[in-house]
Amino acid sequence: MMYGSMCEVNLLHQTKYWTEVLTTQAASKPTLMNLSMDFKIGTPHSIWSTTHASFHDIRKSILKANLITSVFIFQANKSRFNKYTVDPTCPVCGSGAETLQHFLLHCDTLRVERDRWMVPIRDFFTEVADKSHWALLLQDDFRIARFLLDCTNFTDEYPVLKKPHIQMQLEFLTRNLCFDLHRARINALSFK
Ligand SMILES: [Zn+2]
Repeated sequence: MMYGSMCEVNLLHQTKYWTEVLTTQAASKPTLMNLSMDFKIGTPHSIWSTTHASFHDIRKSILKANLITSVFIFQANKSRFNKYTVDPTCPVCGSGAETLQHFLLHCDTLRVERDRWMVPIRDFFTEVADKSHWALLLQDDFRIARFLLDCTNFTDEYPVLKKPHIQMQLEFLTRNLCFDLHRARINALSFK
């Protein structure tokens, strides 16, 4: 075997090994429950492969990555980290604990921004996938949040989501949803 071919085989083995190590370790972390485990070392996540090289787009993708990996801290997280001595109530609307799902799906103060993007997300999803499944996704807060944060979580259920141009459009819509919700949250908090 030529030296170049041996290097390639070695690199392939190493990539496979480290991808398995990373996937196994990531699957055991509750903070990564919204991240698809279908990734490979050397292949960028769809968040990054669909991001344009503009300051605004990169900012939006960084926020989305922080939400997916639980780096973004909500009031309910603060409460848990402080052994429940901190009030978990949403500081924006004052109704219910401020969790990731509350922020994405229920906080009433953020309704206008949510509707602005959820309607096109719903329309796009029902156009490319099974219509009846949108209602099923919405029935479960954890499922719809996982879908909005990383649609590649659902490529087994909806193989159409493997197509790069579908991922591109869904990432564009969900990136903007997350960012506009975040901006509205910051604005609302600045008036408190
Ligand atoms: Zn709220």
